[in-house]
Amino acid sequence: MKKVLNKSRIQNAKSKTTAQQMGRKELLVSESGTILKKWGNKIPVCVVFPNTYYIGMSNLAAHILYKTLNNYDDVVCERCFLEDNGECISIESGRPLKSFECVFFTISFEMDFINIPKILRFSSISMLSGERKQDNPIIVAGGICATSNPEPISGFFDLFLMGDIESTIPDFIEKYREMRGKDRDEILDGLSRFYWIYNPAKLKVSYKEDGTIEAFNPEDFTVKINRYAGKSLGKSAIIAERTEFSSMFLVEGTRGCPSKCPFCLLGNTYKFTCDKILPLKTDIKDIGIIGGGVSFHPHITEIVRQLKQEGKHVHFPSLRLDEIPLSIIELMQDEIKTLTFGIEAGTEEMRKVIGKPLTNDEVYKKLSAILGIKPFNLKLYFMIGLPGETMEDIEGIVELVKHTKHLMVKEGAKKGFVGSITVHASPFVPKPFTPFQRFPMNDMDELKSKVNLLKRAFGKVDNTYFTHDSVKYSFIQGVLARGDRRLSDIILKFADGESLNKIMKDSAVNLNFYVLRERDKNEILPWDFIKGNAVKNIAMSASGGHPL
Ligand code: SF4
Repeated sequence: MKKVLNKSRIQNAKSKTTAQQMGRKELLVSESGTILKKWGNKIPVCVVFPNTYYIGMSNLAAHILYKTLNNYDDVVCERCFLEDNGECISIESGRPLKSFECVFFTISFEMDFINIPKILRFSSISMLSGERKQDNPIIVAGGICATSNPEPISGFFDLFLMGDIESTIPDFIEKYREMRGKDRDEILDGLSRFYWIYNPAKLKVSYKEDGTIEAFNPEDFTVKINRYAGKSLGKSAIIAERTEFSSMFLVEGTRGCPSKCPFCLLGNTYKFTCDKILPLKTDIKDIGIIGGGVSFHPHITEIVRQLKQEGKHVHFPSLRLDEIPLSIIELMQDEIKTLTFGIEAGTEEMRKVIGKPLTNDEVYKKLSAILGIKPFNLKLYFMIGLPGETMEDIEGIVELVKHTKHLMVKEGAKKGFVGSITVHASPFVPKPFTPFQRFPMNDMDELKSKVNLLKRAFGKVDNTYFTHDSVKYSFIQGVLARGDRRLSDIILKFADGESLNKIMKDSAVNLNFYVLRERDKNEILPWDFIKGNAVKNIAMSASGGHPL
């Protein structure tokens, strides 16, 4: 499920422009909750979100990390983002990254890998960890993408924190405090002793002639994920106006998701945990409840009811159609104009394959009931290029949306208003540590023809809009998601602004190798040395149809 809250697009676009134009000091004035500490002899650390302030401050991991690090009296933690003008200095004191002792990147999107060398170069820090000098900060990575497959970016980082902030940062800081002032390599060695720290310099990888991995050296090299076992999840540390979720108090309602859809990284790598959310200590009126599994929270209706009684406006990410109770939609109908659902596939058979086994009738029944409450606008998310998908599955998307439109007109006629439908298609990108991790992606031509079919079909349906992720962008994401350490040079080329076409033409590395190939069940995967995530592999059927 995507993190889309029900806020006006126009308002968001305006905020984005303003954030880019604003200086650091103006941003600080527009925030509340910022932690400003005197440096003195404190350990200076920086949280880096490798994208803009507008996107980064909407990411709860950045808030949790900032708050956790600032909770230590002897640590001063600031934030840094990469603005479109290439600037990258800390928000709080305007210092360059070089001034800090430890720099923590939190990485939630594969495409942000490309921004990492840009940030290091702007900060005059060697991009490659092996070339760093004694006085350079220790450059650390964490976050869902960095921990599921750190290999493509392993050359840029000294260390990876393989686990949750709550379960790794306290030990990391304690150890760093103990070793502060020692030789840089000695500190790295000391920190690397934790079972959940990955130091890429300690692992060598050899390859076979066909390009697949031959062996890890040492052969028994492992790093284990350290998951947080508590139930108190994240909350906004700072209320920021100039962000995607402008001036909203964000609460991490759930972490992980019990549905474990076989394409979903979040559902397959985190243990499902629910925060009790209440009582919520904030004066902010707009509350965003974040988490892929929010529709599965056992107390979500009572929580929303209580928040409404307190006069709050509650916002959600996209919801799971089969799980979300109608009572929640009834409760929130006054403040919501648009509802977002991840339907993901157009046919019943394909939905079964991806773990969302709703029949068409069940989809229509639930949508009718929802539209009977109020003529909402709908945003429906689909994936294209799923394993075993045929053109019938794509045509199924068109049929399903047309039928939904018909229901909308029928229900809307009773109320004198008919909403709109926005259909969004994203190419399926296989992710590590998911049951689909060994599957190929569709090639770009196939994806383009599917996009074109949908574009043509929806161009003829009234009041229905079609948007899609760029096919090229998804291909690059596919390369980065399941790539290995040989991709550092490719990432550097992207960071230099080279086009995909030029890279594919000139580079010795064949990018199709990472994207279009089905991995044999015995093939060693670049992330196989990471333990602690159980993955059920799914085989393709012999006929090449839907996965078995
Ligand atoms: S596992 Fe499925 S339902 Fe849960 S967050 Fe992922 S895609 Fe959404």
